[in-house]
Amino acid sequence: MLAFELFSAICVGVTLVLAIQIYAATAAFVEENLKQANFPENPILYGKLCMMIHVLSLRAGVPEPTLAMNKNIPELEITWSRQSKAVISVNPEWLKRFTLVECMAAFAHEIGHLTRPIGLLVFCVLHAFVMSLYITSTTAFMYWLLAITSPAPIPETRTVALLMYAGYFSGFVISAFSSFLKRRDEYAVDMIAANLLGEIAPLTDLFDAFIYFGGSDTESLKGKYSLRAIFSTHPSLPERIERLKMNAHKVKKL
Ligand SMILES: [Zn+2]
Repeated sequence: MLAFELFSAICVGVTLVLAIQIYAATAAFVEENLKQANFPENPILYGKLCMMIHVLSLRAGVPEPTLAMNKNIPELEITWSRQSKAVISVNPEWLKRFTLVECMAAFAHEIGHLTRPIGLLVFCVLHAFVMSLYITSTTAFMYWLLAITSPAPIPETRTVALLMYAGYFSGFVISAFSSFLKRRDEYAVDMIAANLLGEIAPLTDLFDAFIYFGGSDTESLKGKYSLRAIFSTHPSLPERIERLKMNAHKVKKL
């Protein structure tokens, strides 16, 4: 069973390398965002947005993230810098589409993620593991191709073929499962955000505006049982609105 041990070792090794690579790339990207952090085009708006983040993070009881303006990202996202400091990156063009209250709802959602970082961590680790399963299975596929085309018999060809199928299949299943967990996390974070805001209206307005502008999340919602929906990391916006309305009575007024 040398093939099995080798397969596992490569898989673990590749997961580690990928995780470090993803972390380094994200940290470098965030450092770049921070260089553009002061948003000189509109210092008054920047000040107001920072104040929102200040108030929301006080309410959430989490360290205040830095706000960075970055034209290279599609919308907004939360990431960590090398000093493990949270950074909310926003595309200033994206901001122009929303009211200040809707922007505040978007920040409340991102800060909601900070209150349960385990959700993001589990997703990132599973994601790196799935990528590593695919890479390792492809290596096994190449070995298998070599083995079946070789004139002399090569040991463990059958085991390698089995590992290859098992690797691809489990990668597919784990990927669907981690996307499912991530979608559940998004619902939970929406509820945290509603509690930070004291009502659901700013969030439902934000999602309605997203649908109007054809935001990226809207696309993932076509066909509840499509492949795209299975691997989507976010529930569809209409589903998020529906879920918030269903749970509106649980939101504490400020
Ligand atoms: Zn989110």
